[in-house]
Amino acid sequence: MNGARKTPQRTCVGCRCLKDKKDLIRIVRDEDKHISIDLTGKKNGRGAYLCPDTACLDRAVKSRALEKSFKTALPPTLVEQLRREIEQIDE
Ligand SMILES: [Zn+2]
Repeated sequence: MNGARKTPQRTCVGCRCLKDKKDLIRIVRDEDKHISIDLTGKKNGRGAYLCPDTACLDRAVKSRALEKSFKTALPPTLVEQLRREIEQIDE
């Protein structure tokens, strides 16, 4: 590891792979414990990252990785929203 890396990297909460931040979907929990998808990457709050892959989403849901990361329940509507978002990116 050196300081020369240009692209920030983050770990996907589904597969635990380290990937370029720009290739991951950011999910953010704000101070009101509201969880949303952050497509701009600029929202304030605690972030978690997910590959644009439904397999990673399924793994993250199954392992409760997002809930653990955010320390709050994951709304089912958000999971559906993420799935739609990923399906759009996949096309
Ligand atoms: Zn992944």
